[in-house]
Amino acid sequence: MLCTNGHMCADSSVFCPTCGVGTFLSSTPQYLARGAPPMGTSTNGLAIASLVLGITWVYWIGSILALIFGLVARKQIKQSAQSGSGMATAGIVLGCVGIATLLYFLIIVITAIHSTGPSY
Ligand SMILES: [Zn+2]
Repeated sequence: MLCTNGHMCADSSVFCPTCGVGTFLSSTPQYLARGAPPMGTSTNGLAIASLVLGITWVYWIGSILALIFGLVARKQIKQSAQSGSGMATAGIVLGCVGIATLLYFLIIVITAIHSTGPSY
């Protein structure tokens, strides 16, 4: 194991033989053992919601919400140094794609209505 100053010590030592401190770190740092990022960072919930809504689409309701949540999430991530900006961006992109398809379909429907109008 390591003392808090980073010296190698025997597992049975009570004090570090090099610097004499009585405090030790586990030989495997906690964050490596858990595979999680260093403490202080959490993933933004709105970023996750944005990505999920962007994927699930839900008849364009998801797309619109994904875009809104993504923009809010990016603002929150910038202010709070949270992680998830990639997910927020993906949500925004998916939202934009969804809305673009909605507009595309609307144009097709409108032109179809016009072209199949009264044609005696
Ligand atoms: Zn030491």
